Amino acid sequence: MKIRYFDHAATTPVREEVIKEMIPYFGIEYGNASVMYSLGRNAKKALNAARRKVADAINCNPNEIYFTSCGSESDNLAIKGFAYANKNKGNHIITSKIEHHAVLDTCKTLERQGYQVTYLNVDRNGFVDLNELSNVICKNTILITIMFANNEIGTIQPIEQIGKIAKENNITFHTDAVQAIGNLKIDVKKLNIDMLSLSGHKFYAPKGVGALYVKHGIEFEKIQDGGEQEKNKRAGTENVAEIVGLGKAIELINNELEDYNRKQRELRDYYITEVEKNIPNIKINGDLEKRLSGNANISFRGVNASELLFKLDEYGICASAGSACSTSNPMPSHVLTAIGLDQELANSTLRVSVGRDNTIEDMKHLVDKLKEIIKN
Ligand code: PLP
Repeated sequence: MKIRYFDHAATTPVREEVIKEMIPYFGIEYGNASVMYSLGRNAKKALNAARRKVADAINCNPNEIYFTSCGSESDNLAIKGFAYANKNKGNHIITSKIEHHAVLDTCKTLERQGYQVTYLNVDRNGFVDLNELSNVICKNTILITIMFANNEIGTIQPIEQIGKIAKENNITFHTDAVQAIGNLKIDVKKLNIDMLSLSGHKFYAPKGVGALYVKHGIEFEKIQDGGEQEKNKRAGTENVAEIVGLGKAIELINNELEDYNRKQRELRDYYITEVEKNIPNIKINGDLEKRLSGNANISFRGVNASELLFKLDEYGICASAGSACSTSNPMPSHVLTAIGLDQELANSTLRVSVGRDNTIEDMKHLVDKLKEIIKN
């Protein structure tokens, strides 16, 4: 049976070109990047080339990039590392109610350690309110951490305005851009972003590699003890092969963004239009304009999304009922709850996220099977 994959927000397949670039670093180029002899220097060179590619993709300096093991680690390092290093300046952090758990749970941990966190509301489309943001800033506020684009509903936040508010108030601004990188062109300087988290497996690099951008001059502490890798900010021998893969993948996708987005949008919009035409009692979640080009999040009233997923799987169709990181959690999604969905509607929601290899024929197949399953 042909697998039709519509869960690119959960993870993406690794591109052939990326695998090819990585292979030598699993084999003949096995050196540790911290050692002095040539094998180690080759690894170091490869790390630096990847660092340059990541930096070019977001318009920063390569020495502002720190490699990590994933997006979650990047979020933890940015938020905890910054909070610990700046606790003499204040203890208040602002975030939103629809962040990924890598941010929300990090904030909860900091609350237990005496920090104060404000969780901003979002409106029905998932946007934070800039007036509310300005109003909750106080003299103790040290950090604003608001995601670039939401992993469930795809809504893209007004990042430039948030960056401006942070700058005007002399507050550091971190954004979890795990879903945005590889989908949107991001210029950290133009957007006044001080720290940014990204993760390779969302843009056709392997799972288990990420990066954190920290603007020069921003103080943050390492949160994992050990060696002095990554300018003594992230202990642990660098995963050279995967970092090489991350560099290649971000370079490739950034060069193709326009075409990639156009194609994704066409397929996604076709799917939404056909669902609207053919299936009653639906609700499209998230903003229709300011959303990730591959994301469609639709509630099918009266349908149990978990059962729907099992049925779709029988036809080789992979999609998601919420974010992949919380599929074992029977509670309704905190994102859908925050935008006002009741529990029943939240639990009848399907996220379809389109990617590079999808075709119009895939979308037709998906709509046909959805119609059939829901009718029955
Ligand atoms: N932040 C967002 C918005 C995400 O969507 C994810 C993963 O789905 C993460 C953080 C965590 O990234 P990783 O899976 O690399 O730890």
